[in-house]
Amino acid sequence: MKPSTLRIGYRYRPKRLAQDYDAVVIGSGMGGLTSAALLSELGWKVCVLEQHYTAGGYTHSYERNGYEWDVGVHYIGDVGTATRTRKMFDFLSDGKLQWSPMAAEYDRFYIGDKVFNAVAGKQAFRDNLLRQFPDEEAAIDRYMELLSQVSGGLSAHAMDKVLKPWQQKLAAPFMSLKKPKYLYRNTYAVLSELTDNQDLIATLCGQWGDMGLPPKQSSFLVHAMIARHYLYGGYYPVGGSWKIAESIIPRIRKAGGEVFTYARVTKILAEAGRVTGVEMADGHIIECECVISSAGIANTFGDLLPAGVVAKFGYSQDLPKVGPSFAHLGIYVGLRQTAAELGLPKTNFWIYPDNDYDAAVEKFVADPNAEFPVVYISFPSAKDPDYENRHPGTATIEIVAPAPYAWFAAWDDTTWGKRGEDYEAFKAALGERLMEHLYEKLPQLRGRVDYYEVSTPQSTNWFSGYQQGELYGLEHTADRLKQDWLGPRTRIPGLWLTGQDTLTCGVTGAMMAGMLTTMAIVGMRRMGPLMKEIYGGE
Ligand SMILES: Cc1cc2nc3c(=O)[nH]c(=O)nc-3n(C[C@H](O)[C@H](O)[C@H](O)COP(=O)(O)OP(=O)(O)OC[C@H]3O[C@@H](n4cnc5c(N)ncnc54)[C@H](O)[C@@H]3O)c2cc1C
Repeated sequence: MKPSTLRIGYRYRPKRLAQDYDAVVIGSGMGGLTSAALLSELGWKVCVLEQHYTAGGYTHSYERNGYEWDVGVHYIGDVGTATRTRKMFDFLSDGKLQWSPMAAEYDRFYIGDKVFNAVAGKQAFRDNLLRQFPDEEAAIDRYMELLSQVSGGLSAHAMDKVLKPWQQKLAAPFMSLKKPKYLYRNTYAVLSELTDNQDLIATLCGQWGDMGLPPKQSSFLVHAMIARHYLYGGYYPVGGSWKIAESIIPRIRKAGGEVFTYARVTKILAEAGRVTGVEMADGHIIECECVISSAGIANTFGDLLPAGVVAKFGYSQDLPKVGPSFAHLGIYVGLRQTAAELGLPKTNFWIYPDNDYDAAVEKFVADPNAEFPVVYISFPSAKDPDYENRHPGTATIEIVAPAPYAWFAAWDDTTWGKRGEDYEAFKAALGERLMEHLYEKLPQLRGRVDYYEVSTPQSTNWFSGYQQGELYGLEHTADRLKQDWLGPRTRIPGLWLTGQDTLTCGVTGAMMAGMLTTMAIVGMRRMGPLMKEIYGGE
């Protein structure tokens, strides 16, 4: 069989390792790759260890039956102009990563039998909301003001994480001025002070699936961050999401580092109160005094570190304060016609039973036969101008919906592809229900689907190295965001953290986390000139 070009990275073998890495990174998601690439730029030789068969974490893509799908990237915001986000992507990829804009209507929300949407551009977004809710001008304008105001708060939240504990204490009065209290309140509470129009609140929260918590449970900080992120529209990486990692890896190699796949770390080693390296699944030990874990909090503290070290450094008390985000189902659909022929849009669909998102989640968790609280449909081949060059005459669709991990826990000790008939039947039934949502919105597709497959939270664990099928690592409650131990620094000398658990979810969230981790490791004096190079004179 022809090897897939989508498989990137270098297959791990102990003899392929160099002797003297300056840093070892566990996990090749956006967080890990960003830290590795920035450190490489500063002259470090970095070894990235990825347990999967390909690099990229949730930015990887896979091929089957002549189709190609992304597992964790549907749209990225803030890359249409020379923003800081765009400049960082440009730097990491050496300008190779290209972005294709989605339709001006990037998100469409089907809320019960009503349809609302979000369109690109700050003023257009506001005017479009007003067209949909003509009596809500004051609330809409106040909402736009809040989005503008949170910018400083978001930066302060991020920068706080780079500071050493004594610096945090010193900066606390200044930082608290920058971080308005409403950032850490729940989203619904903040929005219901602006309006009692439940359809408007539901429309503003129509992207709750982008962080995995409905508005009465999520923090306004993350809500605002996501709303701002997409305010100028959604963009798709030309060539598919795997291009993100593919374009970053050369930077790591240029400095003598490597990204190894099939490279599962089983232990973070510690001796005399500091981290000394990692142990691989084959028993091989890689010694290194700087270990960066982007494998997530649950893996790092729950599995990889010795329990005694976790307890000694006080993490046993911290861990119960955070929990996993929702798990999810993924449907990967292939069709033997092009996106244009099938009339597939460059707009994401969000389908909700009604405007009470929290109640719908509660019902669903209690009863698997209740309606899905949210069904998200994305049309990657329509968004990617290069898709047809790679897979002529075909199109793809991806559907994502939440699913409690508990429903799948019975298959914890089974292997991918061999989980048994009961598992296959359960997932097939869930898949059929989700496909009906697709046909209901795009009836022309009925009878035209060539192939589809369903992933479950067990697939997420298997391929992406999670423990409970987490969609976004730790759940994004306000309490989680207040945990000051979630950041690049750990109390264990030699161990650093990065990725979505240290800042927020999202490819950009993980990328920014990667930057903060690098900053924390090398210090501002070394990072300053690099930031200047990346961001220019700003
Ligand atoms: C269905 C879905 C849709 C999404 N859609 C979007 C979107 O449209 N836009 C957006 O911005 N974000 C989206 N996201 C979120 C985004 O993909 C993630 O927040 C982000 O990519 C996380 O990056 P990370 O580096 O923190 O973690 P990950 O990408 O999860 O990387 C962690 C890596 O660590 C590896 N690992 C774990 N344990 C070990 C070990 N012991 N040894 C070696 N390696 C290990 C894993 O295999 C994994 O590759 C989506 C996520 C999902 C699941």
